[in-house]
Amino acid sequence: MAEEISPGASPEDVQGRIEGLRNVVARHNVLYYEQDSPEIPDSEYDVLVNELRSLEEQFPQFAKATSSGQTVGGAPSATFSPVQHAIPMTSLDNAMDVEELRAWGDRVQKSLDGESVRFVCELKIDGLAMSIRYVNGEMVTAATRGDGRVGEDVTANVRTISVIPQQLAGAPPVIEVRGEVYMPREVFDELNTEAARAGERELVNPRNAAAGSLRQKDSSVTARRKLAFWAYQIGDRQGGPQHATHEEALGYIADLGFPVNPEVTGFESFDDVVTFCQAAINRRHELGYDVDGVVIKVDDLGQREELGFTSRAPRWAIAFKFPPEERLTALLDIRVSVGRTGRTTPYAVLEPVFVDGSTVSMATLHNEDQVRIKDVRPGDTVIVRKAGDVIPEVVGPVLSERPPEARPWSFPKHCECPLQSEFVRLDGEADTRCVESKCPFQRDQKLMYWASRGAMDIEGLGERTVVQLTERDLVRDVAGLYQLTVDEVEALEGFARPSAEKLITAIDESRRQLAWRVLTGFGIKHVGPTVAQSLLSRYESVRKVFEASQAELSLVDGIGAVIAQSISRWWENSENRNLVDRLEAGGVVLDIHEARPSADEMLEQTLEGRAVVITGTVPGYNRDEAASAVAARGGASPGSVSKKTFALVVGEGAGASKLTKAESLGIPIIAAGDFEQFLASGQLPKNAD
Ligand code: NAD
Repeated sequence: MAEEISPGASPEDVQGRIEGLRNVVARHNVLYYEQDSPEIPDSEYDVLVNELRSLEEQFPQFAKATSSGQTVGGAPSATFSPVQHAIPMTSLDNAMDVEELRAWGDRVQKSLDGESVRFVCELKIDGLAMSIRYVNGEMVTAATRGDGRVGEDVTANVRTISVIPQQLAGAPPVIEVRGEVYMPREVFDELNTEAARAGERELVNPRNAAAGSLRQKDSSVTARRKLAFWAYQIGDRQGGPQHATHEEALGYIADLGFPVNPEVTGFESFDDVVTFCQAAINRRHELGYDVDGVVIKVDDLGQREELGFTSRAPRWAIAFKFPPEERLTALLDIRVSVGRTGRTTPYAVLEPVFVDGSTVSMATLHNEDQVRIKDVRPGDTVIVRKAGDVIPEVVGPVLSERPPEARPWSFPKHCECPLQSEFVRLDGEADTRCVESKCPFQRDQKLMYWASRGAMDIEGLGERTVVQLTERDLVRDVAGLYQLTVDEVEALEGFARPSAEKLITAIDESRRQLAWRVLTGFGIKHVGPTVAQSLLSRYESVRKVFEASQAELSLVDGIGAVIAQSISRWWENSENRNLVDRLEAGGVVLDIHEARPSADEMLEQTLEGRAVVITGTVPGYNRDEAASAVAARGGASPGSVSKKTFALVVGEGAGASKLTKAESLGIPIIAAGDFEQFLASGQLPKNAD
């Protein structure tokens, strides 16, 4: 990548830097727009383009209209016939943070001499722009943006997108509808699961997957990719109604049968625009499709005309970009971790990098085949992705940055543990396993799993403590935890008397933990919390589960032959039976069940059989608590609004989509402040609409 420019650089240096940046940006444009195969994350590309544009502004003597910092998109491919756009398809200017967003708002206000301005906020869908032309109500061409003036004719492929109408009723003689073609997350994940199963390279992201799917020669391939579309603008038009505002135009295209995103919201105040943008960052993972920002547009079409365009983008709109979820960093090493069942996972040791709100220094590489398919090597510069709560992952290497000495990585033959146990990969299996049951790494993982939140929930017993306990031979398995003393814990690194007492109290409390948690804690294959809860709703104690025959176990709801066999096998092992005996001897109780409310403790079932959807925050409740409160009254709280919904409770930060849907179905809407009253009475408040 080009060298950065230092303050006090000579004009030659600046010119050199500008030219260097132009070449790098032009190369990434070809990879992204023409080959649908970007090499670097968008955030890194944006940094390069922003530097190029700012240097071209500061040093106009070196500016060029053909600079890759000033042009739109990429050249149309020769695979498709060219389509001249009747009205150019422009790009958008970016605001990288709230300050830049407000500066744009101020510029708009100033250019309009302080007239009042209504802004419309729309999600910035991460797909590719499409212009679809209808003549006398018939779809005639669908074209990509291309370089903004000339796009590619992808009509045959667009015809396979089921949400896009082929014919329009009541349309004017000519109308072009523009919007974003995208790949829903679910489809993307499905395709990648299939690719992983087939040992093929996974798709990089839904945007490139959508672009690649649309620019196929064979439209049956496009059809299989189940693309979708949101319309957001009218392009060329002859005849038909004239609209005064963008919102009116959107309403018109929705009436013609195009999908218009339900999150579109108009605001009079710029503070509300900023609030919408910030809230959208947090909601981006709940949508089911990728968005990379919010587009803010001036609503009044007359005001838009006054504001006009720059050479590449309208002045009446801006894209507020979300903080990046992909960054570049150095892959320092690839190592292998061993799980409690002996399953191994290669992982990347990374130069720490800040992505999506936290610093990432490790990322999973899943298994041997994934390392090979991704072709990541120690020494590479790699793209790291972290989205919301999802575990960080390495997307792939930047090949142009690969040092000549970087060698392909091969899976080690032995575990790094003191026993140097053998790693084995059986034919037909994706995972490599450590087959030594006495492997100290497996033992430590078993202890950590026992103490984890989903199992015995022993606070303060993390990896660091577990490793110290086993290294000093104070604990050999989970039963050993119940023999520990305060003095022994206090002697560990990082502990003092009070913290040691606290840990021993937490261990002691776990002796009376719920029976399903004990069963979960053993980490038996296929027996997670849900299965353990089903079993313990049927059996009195953990021991009774173990003593049941496979045939009996299979009769329990949700338990099939595979789970039943897995439990029986575990219990057949005398070491495991011995472990259960020692746990009991150590005071762990095996038959504690959740206290069920007695008949007179039971709350009045005011919402029996009713579906109450909750959106946003209800004061005094988190999401689970609000749903439990409905359940305690006999109701259910599904995640989406349908015809069967009894009422929608709307709290702060509520999503517009549920609200719009409830309104369109005429479902009563209850303000969060009336929630408790509603629970108690089951009656709709008078002001519910
Ligand atoms: P852009 O994506 O920033 O903005 C313009 C586009 O936004 C429009 O063409 C349209 O397709 C889209 N859009 C989505 N929702 C919209 C809505 N509601 N209203 C209007 N438009 C909407 O600009 P661009 O010129 O297409 O490309 C720049 C983007 O592409 C940047 O994000 C950049 O990082 C990325 N890029 C990345 C690389 C790379 O190598 N990683 C290379 C080139 C471009």
